[in-house]
Amino acid sequence: MQDILPRVPLLDLTRPQLASLLAGWGQPRYRSDQVWDWLYRQLATDPAEMTNLPKELRARLAAETRLELLALIHEQRSNDGRTVKWLFQLHDGLTIETVLMSYPPDEGPGQGETVLMSYPSDEGPGQGRRTVCISTQAGCAMGCVFCATGQAGLARNLTAGEIVAQTLAAERWLAGEAQNDEQGGGGESQAAAHAPRPAPAARRLTNVVVMGMGEPLANYERTWQALAALTDRDGFNLGARHITISTVGLPHGIQRMAAEPLQVNLAVSLHAPNDALRGQLAPINNRYPLAEVLAAVRDYIARTNRRVTFEYALMEGINDTPALARELAVLLRGMLCHVNLIPLNPVAESPYQPSGPERSSAFQAILERNGIPTTMRMRRGVEIDAGCGQLRRRHA
Ligand code: SAH
Ligand code: SF4
Repeated sequence: MQDILPRVPLLDLTRPQLASLLAGWGQPRYRSDQVWDWLYRQLATDPAEMTNLPKELRARLAAETRLELLALIHEQRSNDGRTVKWLFQLHDGLTIETVLMSYPPDEGPGQGETVLMSYPSDEGPGQGRRTVCISTQAGCAMGCVFCATGQAGLARNLTAGEIVAQTLAAERWLAGEAQNDEQGGGGESQAAAHAPRPAPAARRLTNVVVMGMGEPLANYERTWQALAALTDRDGFNLGARHITISTVGLPHGIQRMAAEPLQVNLAVSLHAPNDALRGQLAPINNRYPLAEVLAAVRDYIARTNRRVTFEYALMEGINDTPALARELAVLLRGMLCHVNLIPLNPVAESPYQPSGPERSSAFQAILERNGIPTTMRMRRGVEIDAGCGQLRRRHA
C-alpha cells in the first residue's frame, strides 16, 4: 500500500540530519542520541522497541519513518556453515547481495582458505574474524567481462541507508546465532520473545569489505556517508582500519579517498599488468588507463602512508602466464603494496575459467621472488555462488 506521506528512512540520515528531524518535532537534543543508539547499537527494527522514548514519539516514528530497508528473499549457507549469502530486495523491487564470512581463530592471514583481506587487526588471537561483504549499487556500469554483476549493467546507486542496513543485518544475524548457541540451539520460546531485551553485547562483526555488487567510488557520497555512520563511536563503532573499499580503479575517487579523515583500506582491482589486456577485461581501463590509476595510487600512498592491496583474479590462459607475472612485478616494484591473488569464481555461461593450482602457485612464486608480497585468496563459498552478483543471477 502506498503511504500518503513518504516515510523517512532513518538509516538514510546522517547523525546531524537525525538531530534536526527530531529538533523539528520539538524534541530535546538527547532524544536523537537515544534514537541513534537504538538504530546502531541496539539494532532496533521497530520504534516500539525504543522503550526509553515517550510513547508519542514512538508513535510518530512509527507513522512517519521507516527502519527496514531490505527484505530478505533468499539465504544460502555453505556446507561448513561459515559463509552465508543473502539476496535482499529493495523497496523498488531491485535485488542486491550481501555475504557474511566467518574465520575461526586459528586461521590467521595467509593460512588455509582464509584471506579475504589480510590486514593485521587488533582483535588479537583467539577471537576469529567475521567479515561482511556489502554492495553499494544495484548492478554496475563498469562491465568487467568476468563479473556477474557487470553483465547486467547498472540499475541504480544504493542509498546510504541501504548500504548501512546490510551491515546491520549481518550483525543481527550473528547476534541471533550467538543467542541460539546459548539456548542450546532451541527455537525462540514464547517466554524468550517477551523477555526484556538484553543489553547489547560487544559487536560481533569485525570487518566490513565494500566488495559486493557495484563500484563504490561511482557512488562515492552515499558510500562514505554509510561508512561514517558505521564508524560513529556512539553507535556501531567499527574501526576505520577494519574497513576495506575495493575499486575497479577510478583515479578521481582514489584521490578523494586520500583526503578523507576516515582511514579505511584501499584495494584496487588490477587483473592485468598492461593496458591491452586490462582494457579487454575491465573496459573502464580504456577511459582510465593503468598509468593514471597507478599515479593516483602512488599519490594515495604518499599522502596516507598506507599499504594498498591489488586484487588479481587469475583466469586460466588469460592473465596467468609467467611473462605477465614478471610484467606485474616490474609494474609494482617499489610500491607499498600487496597483491591478493584470487582464482576466478566461474560465472555461468562465461568463457573465463579459474587458473589451476599449479599455474596459480607459479604466478605467485614469480611475484614473491621479485619482492612483491602476495596472498592467495582461495575460493570461498563457490558452492553457494558467493562471487559478486552470482546469486542474483541464478535467482533471476
Ligand atoms: N567494483 C569494485 C568492487 C566490487 S567487485 C571492484 O571491481 O573492485 C569486488 C572484487 O571481486 C573485485 O576485485 C572484482 O574484480 C572481483 N570479481 C568480480 N567477479 C569475480 C569473479 N567472477 N571471480 C573472482 N573475482 C571477481
Ligand atoms: Fe563492477 Fe567491480 Fe564487477 Fe567490474 S568487477 S563489473 S567494477 S562490480
